[in-house]
Amino acid sequence: MNDPFFHPVSGFDLPRFAGIPTFMRLPHVAPGDPRRAEVQIGLVGIPWDSGTTNRPGPRHGPRQMRDASTMIRAQNGATGVRPFELVNCADLGDVGPNPADIADSMERITAFYDDLRRAGIVPLSAGGDHLSTLPVLRALARDAPLGMIHFDSHTDLYKDYFDGTQYTHGTPFRRAVEEGLLDPKRVVQIGIRGTAYDNEDRDFAEAVGIRVIPIEEFHARTPEDVMAEAREIAGDGATYVSYDIDFVDPAFAPGTGTPEVGGPNSYQALLVARLLTGVDIVGADLVEVSPPFDASGATAYLGVSIMFEMLCNMARGLAGR
Ligand code: MN
Ligand code: MN
Repeated sequence: MNDPFFHPVSGFDLPRFAGIPTFMRLPHVAPGDPRRAEVQIGLVGIPWDSGTTNRPGPRHGPRQMRDASTMIRAQNGATGVRPFELVNCADLGDVGPNPADIADSMERITAFYDDLRRAGIVPLSAGGDHLSTLPVLRALARDAPLGMIHFDSHTDLYKDYFDGTQYTHGTPFRRAVEEGLLDPKRVVQIGIRGTAYDNEDRDFAEAVGIRVIPIEEFHARTPEDVMAEAREIAGDGATYVSYDIDFVDPAFAPGTGTPEVGGPNSYQALLVARLLTGVDIVGADLVEVSPPFDASGATAYLGVSIMFEMLCNMARGLAGR
């Protein structure tokens, strides 16, 4: 058993609505805290949405998800995994972005995650819009390109927006491939759907060898079958998991900027994250929760529930089980 300092506050001891909400009621370990050296999985907020091209709001995501995450308990109801006892988890706080300067914000985010990488802390992040994944990958892929399992209704592989703008939440993975941060042959994108501008993003995916599993194929197969293929594509190598909440049908996750109908339900959304077993996850994120469009709070709650499923697999991997 690990140090109880790293165990979340139980609802048996303090009601869930009481206290200061950290991610999953874990201890807050701020930069400079000597306890930071013992942290194995760090939960981080990236309250930044300056890459958003349409409806904004994910800058408010981390705070809303911290509040919703007080609903998360210590044990996975389906698998019995108790992640907080397998490894030391902590809320490391937020990356402080510069909402008025995209380049400066990306540098700040990369610096924060460089620090985590040097400290050997595996990050599980709450966005933020999907551009926030790019500066994270810049830090985590310093040694070698990563594989990626990507849940989304969009490829986020577009070349540019507005006649040449490189950095938006529709372009992060195009940049990541160009910058050599991802090994496209070890990348799979699951859930792609909706109307499109054209086929430019999909043509790029095909040209570089990214496997796209569109929603028609997802629904025609079982989640188990799809995730077996995803695990095979990622292989044994270091893999990043990026989960855009708009992967989920907007009936279950309306609080997001670019919803697309016809998606998975909330059960399937949890199941695919649960089926990341055995993947060497070197970082993961849950992005695009937009509280201004999340009137019921259900989207944030689903988001943190998905984060918990990812965390269980990350903890199992680090603990060697
Ligand atoms: Mn996305
Ligand atoms: Mn999306």
